[in-house]
Amino acid sequence: MSVTTKLKPGVVTGAQYLELLEACREGGYALPAVNVVGTNSINAVLEAAAKNKSDVIIQLSNGGARFFAGEGCPDANAARLLGAVSAARHVHTVAAAYGVCVVLHTDHADRSLLPWVDAMIDAGEEHLKATGQPLFSSHMIDLSAEPLEANIAECARVLKRMAPLGMSLEIELGVTGGEEDGIGHDIEESADNAHLYTQPEDVLKAWEVLSPLGHVTMAASFGNVHGVYAPGNVKLRPEILKASQDAVAARFGGGAKPMSLVFHGGSGSEKAKITEAVSYGVFKMNIDTDTQFAFAEPVGAYVDANPVAFKHQIDPANGKPQKKLYDPRKWLRAGEKGIVARLNEAFADLGSAGRTLAG
Ligand SMILES: [Zn+2]
Repeated sequence: MSVTTKLKPGVVTGAQYLELLEACREGGYALPAVNVVGTNSINAVLEAAAKNKSDVIIQLSNGGARFFAGEGCPDANAARLLGAVSAARHVHTVAAAYGVCVVLHTDHADRSLLPWVDAMIDAGEEHLKATGQPLFSSHMIDLSAEPLEANIAECARVLKRMAPLGMSLEIELGVTGGEEDGIGHDIEESADNAHLYTQPEDVLKAWEVLSPLGHVTMAASFGNVHGVYAPGNVKLRPEILKASQDAVAARFGGGAKPMSLVFHGGSGSEKAKITEAVSYGVFKMNIDTDTQFAFAEPVGAYVDANPVAFKHQIDPANGKPQKKLYDPRKWLRAGEKGIVARLNEAFADLGSAGRTLAG
């Protein structure tokens, strides 16, 4: 595969997705994976990607998918599925107009959420029949809190369903600290904790079983935590990623960086550690907490700057209507611009700016 190949702009799946991963590996860069909750956040991510001429990963947590279908939808389980389908269709509809390649992905699903993942794969089968493309590029299963054998066995079952559709599976080994959408683990800080720092022998076992079944990407723990914590709480050790790549390469071949690695809990990480992790084959860095704040902060500033418009439809001081100030498009747009500004930084940190494969 050549990294100079141009791809059609829009959602990439199957062979195109693998080509994008190869370009990341050869070019030594990674893509931000941004959690979205509505068309506002999706469009802001696409705007930022277009502006930076970077490809990008858009992902939904189960909570984000539920929110997309509506918090008021009485059936939460239905909403989780329908929101994921609806969000994915929105991205399929508009992404090409932004002139970049977009990977569509879903975030952490523990055992209780496996029915959600299976239902999304069902929807992917239908979408493939109708359009020639599955709905999502990949899904994620996080059974890292369970024994390794149970984790791998369930991932194998799901991967066998996804591979024929040209879909990829992201798995997690070792426990990333912190909490993401209610799926969380306590942080234990001992340096040799097998849960906080993924062990190469676990990676070898997972790779041996899963890589022959289909395409798999690995989220390994190297001291990363979900969310933002005070600096110094947990030490990032990207060299753990290199140890795993070396172990897999020695046993199974596949070049210096045989695995496509994922960095969970990228918000608030030191730039030098991000660069180091990318050099060891990380192609995807999850960002959620930082873009949430990037949306909220300018909305707060807008409300602070226009306090009367958020209390009175007509300004009591001068009798003037305030529609131009409270129109949701004004303050939602402020939030969107905040996301774009934060992602400008992410594309620069990850080295993906100017490198879109879309042509
Ligand atoms: Zn994780």
